Amino acid sequence: MSEQRSKPTGLYVAGEWITDTDESIVSTDPSDADEVVAEVAKGDRADAQAAIDAAVETQDEWASLTTHERGAYLHETASIIEDRKEELSRLVTREMGKTIGAASGELQRTIDLLNYYAEVARDAGGNAPPSASENTLTYTQREPWGTAGVITPWNYPIAIPTWKIAPALVAGNTIVFKPASQTPAIAAELVRAFEEAGVPEGVINFVPGSGSDVGDEITTNDDVDIVTFTGSYQVGDHVHTAAAEAGKRVQCEMGGKNPIIVDESADIDLAVELTINGAFTGLSGQACTATSRAVVLDEVHDEYVDRLLERVESLTVGHPLEEGSDLGPKSSADSLEGDLEYVEIGESEGATLRTGGSRIEDGEFAGGHYIEPAVFTDVEPDMRIAQEEIFGPVLSVIEVGDYEEAMEVANGVEYGLSASICTNRLDHAKQFARDIETGIVKVNQTSTGVEMQMPFGGRKNSSTETFKEQGRQALDFYTHEKAVYVT
Ligand code: NAD
Repeated sequence: MSEQRSKPTGLYVAGEWITDTDESIVSTDPSDADEVVAEVAKGDRADAQAAIDAAVETQDEWASLTTHERGAYLHETASIIEDRKEELSRLVTREMGKTIGAASGELQRTIDLLNYYAEVARDAGGNAPPSASENTLTYTQREPWGTAGVITPWNYPIAIPTWKIAPALVAGNTIVFKPASQTPAIAAELVRAFEEAGVPEGVINFVPGSGSDVGDEITTNDDVDIVTFTGSYQVGDHVHTAAAEAGKRVQCEMGGKNPIIVDESADIDLAVELTINGAFTGLSGQACTATSRAVVLDEVHDEYVDRLLERVESLTVGHPLEEGSDLGPKSSADSLEGDLEYVEIGESEGATLRTGGSRIEDGEFAGGHYIEPAVFTDVEPDMRIAQEEIFGPVLSVIEVGDYEEAMEVANGVEYGLSASICTNRLDHAKQFARDIETGIVKVNQTSTGVEMQMPFGGRKNSSTETFKEQGRQALDFYTHEKAVYVT
């Protein structure tokens, strides 16, 4: 299923596209690794410095616009992306392998985020609690932090940059954006849409490049005021420390090991569907909020497992551009190898592999990074497959005796991003919402899938926890608030 390469693209600094760097990033199609999707000019530290200089230089001018004016650019960007939605959805699928349905959902979310923050812009000020003194006016005023470094992963390659850049712009910050190296082409298209919408030169600067080079420069450069990062815990922990040492405000959203609890009162068909959607379909388990542990009460364990296995075996692994595919390939050879290694680890730890877990490489799958969705049972909570983020379609089912044990297991990991419970008991739903150590709590919903007006972020090793993304709360990270007294 060969498609045209996207046009030559590269860095975008101070309103100029730079395509003639010494090195380039070659992005390939995970469903056929020989297929080049795009070749994107690759930046280095000097390019990052030039991008930072441009962002610093234009920041005052950008901040001098009203929030309404800045918001109008977001509406315009949304409409440009909407016109290209189908083409850009295909590009997401071709660069990172999520199914076309999931990619189209991501594009719609991107459009909605831009429109949402354009509307938030109309009401993005401080507030005005009445003064204790009759002749005093008291109010708070939000000011931008300055220049924002934006470092993003490949799994939501256009929506995540958007949910960082849109509120940052509304708040009056300028941007230096480094995308993940697997997905530079779709990230460049986002930047192109901002450019076409007329966002002034220097407000958004884009430097594809390696994390240890461009990412590190953004993280540590004195002229970057704040850094927002989404990615793995291993990298995020380093970015957090390095940015904090460099005196910056920093926000890191990282991995997850998200559970679904299935209690004795649960509708088992619903529990199975929630698990399937959270663990397997669309992104092949490559969401930070993906369900990777099913913690199931013994009363319903066998029934749940039987129905789950039947459903998993009915899933279609196929080309991600085919409408009938439930799962596409993994995003890269490395990520496929990682999953296969975890399947081996699970078996060596004594868990029972009930279905899947093998590479698929025959016939139409040749050259792609495909794996059969895998389910382990007899998993003990302290096994590595039950503790570590796998980031693939590998589910661990853990049997427990009662609700209290289920909660202990659910909370017994270092991550704390999202968690779900399938129950018909209001007391369990309420206790779960209170006691679960995650930032996102779902009752009778999948652990994946969030709404943009709600704050997003994790706890424990899933997040630096200081600031939330999305919702109006996102503005807290990108602004400082002054208390103003006028008599
Ligand atoms: P990653 O940590 O490998 O990379 C993330 C970004 O950091 C990339 O742009 C990368 O180039 C950059 N980077 C790498 N080294 C760096 C360094 N030394 N300094 C600065 N930047 C550096 O993550 P990934 O593989 O792209 O994404 C998958 C991970 O992201 C998973 O762990 C997933 O759970 C997590 N994720 C979290 C969320 C969330 O909101 N919590 C959302 C999506 C993905």
